[in-house]
Amino acid sequence: MSEAIEYCGYVALVGRPNVGKSTLLNHMLGQKLAITSRKPQTTRHLLLGVDTDGPYQAIYVDTPGIHDHTDREMNRYMVRSATSVLGDVDVIAMLVDRDQFTEADDVVLQHVRASSARKFAVINKIDLLKQKNALLPAIAHLQSLDCFDQVLPVSALRDTGLDALRKEVSSALPPHPHMFPADQITDQSERFLVSEIVREKLMRRYGDEIPHRTAVVIEAFSDEEGITDIAADIYVERAGQKRIVIGRGGEKLKAVGQEARLDIEKLLGRKVMLRLWVKVKPGWTNNQGALKRMGYD
Ligand code: GDP
Ligand code: MG
Repeated sequence: MSEAIEYCGYVALVGRPNVGKSTLLNHMLGQKLAITSRKPQTTRHLLLGVDTDGPYQAIYVDTPGIHDHTDREMNRYMVRSATSVLGDVDVIAMLVDRDQFTEADDVVLQHVRASSARKFAVINKIDLLKQKNALLPAIAHLQSLDCFDQVLPVSALRDTGLDALRKEVSSALPPHPHMFPADQITDQSERFLVSEIVREKLMRRYGDEIPHRTAVVIEAFSDEEGITDIAADIYVERAGQKRIVIGRGGEKLKAVGQEARLDIEKLLGRKVMLRLWVKVKPGWTNNQGALKRMGYD
């Protein structure tokens, strides 16, 4: 008996800011994962989305937008991380908007061209077209660039054309064992970064008063209308430490929460409600099981 062949690879979602990369990722996975917004550049770091369908496993990489305004350090960082990904992926899906191919698209195209991955041009937001044949010039232009293996019109928001895209992506994946369990849809880096921000604020405020291995575990993380609701547990080892962290009348914890919330809002590009709880778990730093449950593998 031979083992069933598995196919697995990385798929980069690239495109200028606001074309709908994060929206596409969320809708391909059928789950809200990436932060999306009308404001460009909400995605500040790479986010993995894992889509497993039978023998096929596509690992999507939602990249910060590639653009040519490299004046600020954060922008430089984002452009670097987006372009460095392109050398390592098996498939590139370059998103463009339905109506025009802009100079910013051209900048992205130059990076895409240099890659040896399979390349798809994905024309997004076709739900905004009044007439279907308005797409023809865009398709013709993308084909004439002599870069893309396929041109696929979609509406990420309305789930149009996504099955066709998934099929094309699957057929471009190399034979390779799956890298994630079938039920895992992300590397959860957003939660991780949020917990790190809270931890950083704790460290800065308390210094050596509490041990450096305070654990912060995100218990809830959900995007509501206009606001992201986050609940986090702060684990300490002794009741005395809990009293220190909370402070008289809860003042200290409140200050930590406020500072962390401002940073998290910057990171996510959204309003955030942050709820912090301090819990005592004696000996958690020496306890394998507890460490694992808290995400320290
Ligand atoms: P990114 O910067 O490329 O990640 O873009 P986002 O995914 O954050 O989307 C930017 C904006 O475009 C958001 O307001 C989305 O709701 C909107 N958008 C994304 N895809 C579509 C689509 O297929 N149709 C329409 N009408 N809007 C879309
Ligand atoms: Mg995005």
